[in-house]
Amino acid sequence: MSTQQILAPFDGWCSVLDEVPDPVFSGRMLGDGLAIDPTSGILVAPCAGEIITLPASAHAVSIRTAQGIDVLIHVGIDTVQLGGRGFEARVRPGAIVRAGDELIRFDLDVAARGAKSLMTPIVVTSMDGLRLQRCRAPGLVSAGDLLFEIAGTAAGVDTPANEPAVGRTLIVTLRQGLHARPAALLAQRAKSFGAQTTLRAHGRSANARSVVAIMALGVRHGDELSIQASGVDAAQSVASLAAGIEEALRMESAAGHGAAPPGRTVATPAGSAEPNSTNAPGALRGVIAAAGVAVGRATRIERREIAVAENGAGPVHESAELEQARVHVRARLARVAATGGAARREIIAAHLEFLDDPQLNEAAQDLIAAGKGAGFAWRSAIRSSVGALEALEDSRLRERVDDLLDVESHVLLALAGEARPMNIPLPERAVLVADDLLPSELTALDGARLAAICLGGGGATSHVAILAAAMEIPMLVGLGAGIRNIADGATVIVDADAGTLQTAPTAAAIEQARAAVEARRMRREQTQAEAQRECRALDGTRVEVFANLGNVMDAAAAVVNGAEGCGLLRTEFLFIDRETAPAEAEQLAAYQDIAAALGPRPLILRLMDVGGDKPLRYLPLPAEENPALGLRGVRTALAYPDLMRTQLRAALRVQPAGKVRLLVPMITDVAEILAVRGIIDEIKAEIGIHDRIELGAMIETPAAALMASDLVREVDFLSIGSNDLTQYTLAMDRGHPELAARTDALHPAVLKLVAAAAGAGVAAGKMVAVCGGVAADRIAVPILLGLGVRELSVVPAAVPAIKRQIRSLKIDDCRELAARCLELASAAQVRAAVARTIGPAGDTL
Ligand code: PEP
Ligand code: MG
Repeated sequence: MSTQQILAPFDGWCSVLDEVPDPVFSGRMLGDGLAIDPTSGILVAPCAGEIITLPASAHAVSIRTAQGIDVLIHVGIDTVQLGGRGFEARVRPGAIVRAGDELIRFDLDVAARGAKSLMTPIVVTSMDGLRLQRCRAPGLVSAGDLLFEIAGTAAGVDTPANEPAVGRTLIVTLRQGLHARPAALLAQRAKSFGAQTTLRAHGRSANARSVVAIMALGVRHGDELSIQASGVDAAQSVASLAAGIEEALRMESAAGHGAAPPGRTVATPAGSAEPNSTNAPGALRGVIAAAGVAVGRATRIERREIAVAENGAGPVHESAELEQARVHVRARLARVAATGGAARREIIAAHLEFLDDPQLNEAAQDLIAAGKGAGFAWRSAIRSSVGALEALEDSRLRERVDDLLDVESHVLLALAGEARPMNIPLPERAVLVADDLLPSELTALDGARLAAICLGGGGATSHVAILAAAMEIPMLVGLGAGIRNIADGATVIVDADAGTLQTAPTAAAIEQARAAVEARRMRREQTQAEAQRECRALDGTRVEVFANLGNVMDAAAAVVNGAEGCGLLRTEFLFIDRETAPAEAEQLAAYQDIAAALGPRPLILRLMDVGGDKPLRYLPLPAEENPALGLRGVRTALAYPDLMRTQLRAALRVQPAGKVRLLVPMITDVAEILAVRGIIDEIKAEIGIHDRIELGAMIETPAAALMASDLVREVDFLSIGSNDLTQYTLAMDRGHPELAARTDALHPAVLKLVAAAAGAGVAAGKMVAVCGGVAADRIAVPILLGLGVRELSVVPAAVPAIKRQIRSLKIDDCRELAARCLELASAAQVRAAVARTIGPAGDTL
């Protein structure tokens, strides 16, 4: 193993990075290391190497050692604003220096007056395969003292002769080759080892931690793949990756070879081996990506390219900009994931993987170090991976290009400070016609005006196709270049059941298609009309069906769909995308709008559930090893009581009084509820409110489920958050793409906890709700009712179907079914047992 010593670059007080008042450094976004508050103005080299960057403002310097390790020293925070005042470079970029050589002189007073802080991070900017050791404890240091040692092997650096590489070659028998899912699985595994692991195939090699690089190898069924690793745990890494391929194989067999994603039709139309090959006059053939029929006006959209400047304002600045943009995009994607269904969440998990892909990020950072702007660097890095994927013969891998381009535009827009990639006004019943479409472009459009989507290119298994199916928008892809001849505004018929687009239909054909569309619409309206009625099971038992909301638009959709109230307002998403905490008045206005949109229906407002997978830019929490197990939910609220107090003041002022019920996330014990209750009482007294405020506890942790009989004494209702409850019970990350199929809330262990919580609520005569995703799962509904749940809160669009299902159920039958399910051994057995019991329509027992 190789080590590199990093010495103190000046005299001062040494601290951990967490002390640096800048989340970019304290969050270790630029790398790991230590910080020094300087007491001398002479900065010397912390190690021997080449000066890689030293901007004209001379407030930062980075140096690359002979082993390829990059070390950045950034004097103070926000010192870039000094524009070089008080700083003097003593070497030039490209200079070869020895440890202790003078690099920068600076005037301590000028710097201290002009900067936010003089705390100076000394960080290793690419920790890939590296780790810190022998870190100096906080205290005084002198220039030249050992700060820390770096151990391991830097990416791209040849393995030292005394560290033999280990490897294994195998034949990939995965039917689809190394496509996105197995690539993500392998990258996850590679990331858990310190070793540098490389995959080689077709004479090319890829960093095994990078999904993009693995996909770009283009490994197909029957190809030879070699796994090579060097470093401390090289043998384990190779074994783990080989086992990962076995696991991918098992998953592939379990899913059924070549199976389409559930709920979607991906076959090419009958009689057409190749789409678009047997076109009747005035008709184009395509591949069905989402079924349905629509008549509408062709609406062409062109993607606009986001302008980026090639040259940057200095590597440190540009690098920090890119990191900030990625933080911003991560938060936004988390918000979007939580406001959509399972399809959307899965797509966003893939986008997050790309956002953090080491190959993409290293390529961008290299360009930034060479003086390029952050946007230019990010786009170039993405485009080179796009080029690699486009060159492959594998259509499934080529479909991932759209995802890369989407992640590109997310980051470029964040850099430009813009919010949405596309927001063009659509006519009523628009049939969107384009060469291709990105997932975020679709979600930015007004879905209510979108009758259908027709793409010249695209793929039936692309993520945008999955989204269209989830939004129930008929979609055809692979229609070919012929779609370019369709006049903007022309009336077209999209038959995404048969796979055809009629570009010049006769009046009779339009008439007939309109009648078919109308018949479908009436059927749907009938279900919606029924959904407006109060919901009771077949035996008369009252069951409330509420909706989960993220904003006022959701509230309107909830009412249209017959929701009887809001069972969960995710307040954190109302204010996630901003730099400053929302003031009381702003929060009150947002809550009041939602309350008004709900009319007389109750509004269960959840206190901000911040932390874990929902970071907030205006509340940079300390870096945590396991954010899902750290400061989040009520823990964050109690750690930052001022934020909670502001929110409570706003929530309690919503009119009419008593409409808002409060819900507390991530409870683990009674003390947390009592603490929140105490603060609520203080605020009530402060603002002169005397009405009773209903308070609920979320059951999202096994602890809360097991303590439910104690908790329920202190609250008015319980609401089971099955998403987190499943994650914490099964110890499986709810956003993990490879574990998605196993993170099933119908696992008997989760059901036993639901039973414990529901039983406690029933015994205490208090309402038990379920507001996690399982509430909208038709297989789960009879079990939940059988366990005593009497309120289900689901996405607005699911309300009519859930109400219809409940109306067909008898609670006694549900009880008997639930009791049987609790005795089963797996989620699969539970699903099979319920599926056998419920009728063909899925809703009669
Ligand atoms: C849950 O965990 O089930 C829940 C409803 O909360 P969220 O999904 O917002 O974490
Ligand atoms: Mg939750």
